Amino acid sequence: MDEEGRKTMIALAHLSGWSAERISQKMRKWYHIVVTPGNIYMMYQQWTSNSILQAPQEEKMRELLSAKLHADFGFQRPLSETPGGWPITVKFAKRWNPKDLDNRSLCKYYNAASRTHTIGHFLAMVRPLDAIHELSPTEEAAVARLGPVVSSILTSVLNRWAEHFRGKLQQLPFWKNISRDNHAETIMDFLKIFTDEWEEQYGIMADCGSVTPDQLIRHTFVIRSTGQGAKILLGLMLADRSIAIEKKRKMLKESVGYIKVYCPLPMDERACPICSDDLNFPNAEDVTEQAIRLVSCCGQIIGAKCLVAWINPLAGAGVGMNNSCPHCRSFFSREFINKLAAEEGVQEQYEDSQSDTDGDKDIEDDAEPGGEIQDGVVEDFAGIEVGEEGNVHF
Ligand SMILES: [Zn+2]
Ligand SMILES: [Zn+2]
Repeated sequence: MDEEGRKTMIALAHLSGWSAERISQKMRKWYHIVVTPGNIYMMYQQWTSNSILQAPQEEKMRELLSAKLHADFGFQRPLSETPGGWPITVKFAKRWNPKDLDNRSLCKYYNAASRTHTIGHFLAMVRPLDAIHELSPTEEAAVARLGPVVSSILTSVLNRWAEHFRGKLQQLPFWKNISRDNHAETIMDFLKIFTDEWEEQYGIMADCGSVTPDQLIRHTFVIRSTGQGAKILLGLMLADRSIAIEKKRKMLKESVGYIKVYCPLPMDERACPICSDDLNFPNAEDVTEQAIRLVSCCGQIIGAKCLVAWINPLAGAGVGMNNSCPHCRSFFSREFINKLAAEEGVQEQYEDSQSDTDGDKDIEDDAEPGGEIQDGVVEDFAGIEVGEEGNVHF
């Protein structure tokens, strides 16, 4: 290394507040010198123990760096005060596409197949929500390679996210969806926490531009440092947990289909959206229409009689055959129709009318209509409780 290169390296280590790793990248770019972060750390330690530092010397360093970076260079924090000690040097891929299975691994121990494995690991659990703070076997290998300091920052952020995530779901009726954007925003908030804690340990993290939530899910992006790599790894870990839990919630919603709601309804949900009568309340003819909540799709409250009429072509004059939700137009599953048939008496004509297009009719006919099997699934899933107001929490 020539004298200017050495001076720049020491100045960066002393003044920039950058991690040894980022300095190593700059040395390669500016001087074509390959010097490992570990060596930078060692050389700087040697320099500090041999030098009596004086203000004019620091001033010269500042001038050197200002000229090199074409900007005023403020004092941040010397590398020697970096409390994390030894820099981390796990090799992450430079460019990585989390969606592309044929692409190379994020790091030696983590690739797209690892993500699939992790999602499967959580999906196989009866109560995945209880375990989202734990590492899957594939994640464990990758995280261990980051060394004890980074591992502990990473797992501590994972724990805090898990607690937040569980709290959020406990507040939320189970049929309500959390949008992908909402999941992604939360993940970005926690990645910010990770960045802050990384920088406290290792100095400023070399960035890769900005990784947007969308990029995290879809695009190839450039990884410029271990800090960025570890951050992306954490982002994927959080995303995979969100995906697994959303899938479980969807399965739960579909297996429940709808629930009867017995308690008095709030004003904005009181009227049946089809006949406008007050639900769970005797109408002018002293007939009370039972309220049900459509949990497999939009969560709309609707009158059971009107829903049957909506679905069944023979139940009400002028009402056509429909197998989609009158509110959100999502298609009802065969299980949903079967449950409604068993409980509210949708006539068999509906089933016959489907037989031409439905290849597995025979299997369906033999199947238990409605509740029992599905209830079993629900209980196995999380031991959920249906509250009086029809809210189910898990
Ligand atoms: Zn109605
Ligand atoms: Zn709907």
